[in-house]
Amino acid sequence: MSSRFTGIGVSQGVAAAPAVVVAPAIGVEVGEPKTTDFDAASAQVHQALSDVAAGLTARAAQAPADAKAVLEAGAMMASDPGLASGIDNLLQAGKGVTNAVHDAVEEYAAMFESLGGYMAERVTDLRDVRDRVISRLRGVPEPGVPQLTQPSILIARDLAPAETAMLSADTCVGIVTSEGGPTSHTAILAAQLGIPAVVQVGELRVANGAEVAIDGGAGLVILDPTKEEVDALKLRQQRRQSALSDSDAPGATKDGVPIALLANIGTVADAESAAAKAVEGVGLFRTEFLFLDRESAPTLKEQTATYTKVLEAFGPRRVIVRTLDAGADKPLKFADLGPEENPALGKRGLRLSMIRQDLLDTQLEALAAAYKATGADLRVMAPMIANKPEADWFAERARAAGLPKVGVMIEIPAAALRAEQVLANLDFASLGTNDLQQYTMATDRMEGALARLLNYWEPAVLDVIAAACSGAKAAGKPIGVCGESGGDPGLALVLVGLGVSSLSMAPAKVQAVRTVLAAHTMEDCVKLAAIARKQETWEEARQAVLDAADPVLKDVL
Ligand code: PEP
Ligand code: MG
Repeated sequence: MSSRFTGIGVSQGVAAAPAVVVAPAIGVEVGEPKTTDFDAASAQVHQALSDVAAGLTARAAQAPADAKAVLEAGAMMASDPGLASGIDNLLQAGKGVTNAVHDAVEEYAAMFESLGGYMAERVTDLRDVRDRVISRLRGVPEPGVPQLTQPSILIARDLAPAETAMLSADTCVGIVTSEGGPTSHTAILAAQLGIPAVVQVGELRVANGAEVAIDGGAGLVILDPTKEEVDALKLRQQRRQSALSDSDAPGATKDGVPIALLANIGTVADAESAAAKAVEGVGLFRTEFLFLDRESAPTLKEQTATYTKVLEAFGPRRVIVRTLDAGADKPLKFADLGPEENPALGKRGLRLSMIRQDLLDTQLEALAAAYKATGADLRVMAPMIANKPEADWFAERARAAGLPKVGVMIEIPAAALRAEQVLANLDFASLGTNDLQQYTMATDRMEGALARLLNYWEPAVLDVIAAACSGAKAAGKPIGVCGESGGDPGLALVLVGLGVSSLSMAPAKVQAVRTVLAAHTMEDCVKLAAIARKQETWEEARQAVLDAADPVLKDVL
C-alpha cells in the first residue's frame, strides 16, 4: 500500500523512480571487541581501504574537473601506505578495527592541522575517507551521495552544496529531504538544475530501491505509489504545463508595468543554458559556486576567461555578478579564515573580502577585463553589506577597478532598514531574501530542524522587505530580488506590490512567474502585498494570497 507525506515543494515538476538513500556518516562501533587475530583484522582493513580508493577513483573518472580533484585526493589518502601502517600499529596494540581506523586518521589529522595551510585543508577529505572505511567495516553503505547509474530519487537528511552541485538531472530525477527549508542550498541547487524537490518532509523510512513518486510543486511525496497515483501526478503536471503561458515577452504586469525576469546562475554551464531561455539577463551570478571544490584561489587569467564566457553568452542583456560570498554556508577552502563560534554571524561575504582584499581585487580586475573585452551590460554587487560605510567602501573599490555599475545585496536587516542611506552612492540593490530571512528570524538557514522559522512568506520578513523598498524608492534607486522568494509565483506578486522592479530565479521557475504577473495589475499586486502583511503566520500569508489572487496562481504551482 502506498503512503503519502507532505513537505515544502521547492522545485516544480513530478517524478517517479527508485529511491537512493543518502547514508549519514556513522561512528566507530561502540564496545568493539579487541583485535586478537592481527592478520585477519589487518587484511579486513586493507581490503576496506582499497575498496574505498577504488570507489573514489571510479567516481573521479566521471566527475567534472573540480570535483575530480577532490575525489582523486581522497583515493590517494585511502591508498597511503603511511595511513595503513598507522592503522596496523593500533591493531597490533589490540584496538578493534573501526577504532583503529578512527584513531589512526585522527593522528594524521592532528599532524595535518599542525602543518597548517594546504595540509590543514585536507583534514575534511581525510575524515571523509575515515567515514567511508568505517562504514565498509561495519557493513553499511558509504556516507554521502553514491554514484547514480540510473534515474533515481535521492532521499537524504539534507545535502551539502558540493554534493548537490555534482548531481545531474539525467540520473537524479527528484530530491526529498527530511530537513532543510526553502532557502537551503539543497533547494537552491535543485531548482537551478531543474530537479523536482521536496524539503522538510520529516523522517521517512525508505529502503534503497523502493519506488517513490514526488510532486515538487505541491510538496507531495508518495512511497510505493500505485499506478493510478503516478498517472494522477502526470496529469497534474500536464495541467500545470497547459496553464503556463507560452509568451516569451519581457516580464510585465497585466497593466504593462515592466518587471525584469532574470536568471540565477552559478556556473558557465548554467549561463549557457539560461541564455538560451526567455530571460532578460542574470540577476545573480553566485561566483563562489565556481570555486566550491577549489584548493587554491583562481587566478586572474582563469577568472577573466570565465567571466568573459558568461558575459558573451548574454550579449546585450544585463548580467549582475556577485563578488565572492565565501564563509558560513558557502565555505571555500582557499578563503578559510579558521573556525568560528558562529560562522553565519562571522567573517563571511564582504567582511571576508575586507580581510582578504587580494581575493576581491583580483576578482574585480578580472570582471573589469571581461567587461572591457565584451562591452556587456555588466553590473557588480557585493554580498552581506551591513551599513553605508561598507557599501561606500565596496563602491569605491569597484569603480576604481573600472566597473561601470555598482550595487549591493540587501540581506542584513540593518541594511534593509537604512536602505536610503546605504544606496546613496550606489546604482542598484538586490534583496537577498534567503539571508534576510535567516537574520530577521535569528535562525541559521543550515539548521534544518528549525526550518519552520525559515519560510519566506513570514510576515515579519515581508515588513523588512517593505522597509528596504521604501528606502530604495526614497533614494531613487532600483531594487530587485534574487533570493528564492522571487521564484515563488505568489510571493513574486507580493514582492512586486512591495516595490521591486526585477525578480531573479532559477530559470525553470521563470515561466510560472511570467504567467501570474501577466494576470495581475500593479494595483492587484499592491493589494496582495497588503493582504500578506496583515496575516500573523507564513501559512496564513500564503493561503490568503492564494485565495485573493487570480485562480491561475493555483494552476501554475
Ligand atoms: C540570498 O541570501 O537571498 C541570496 C540570494 O544569496 P545566497 O542564497 O547565495 O546566500
Ligand atoms: Mg545571501
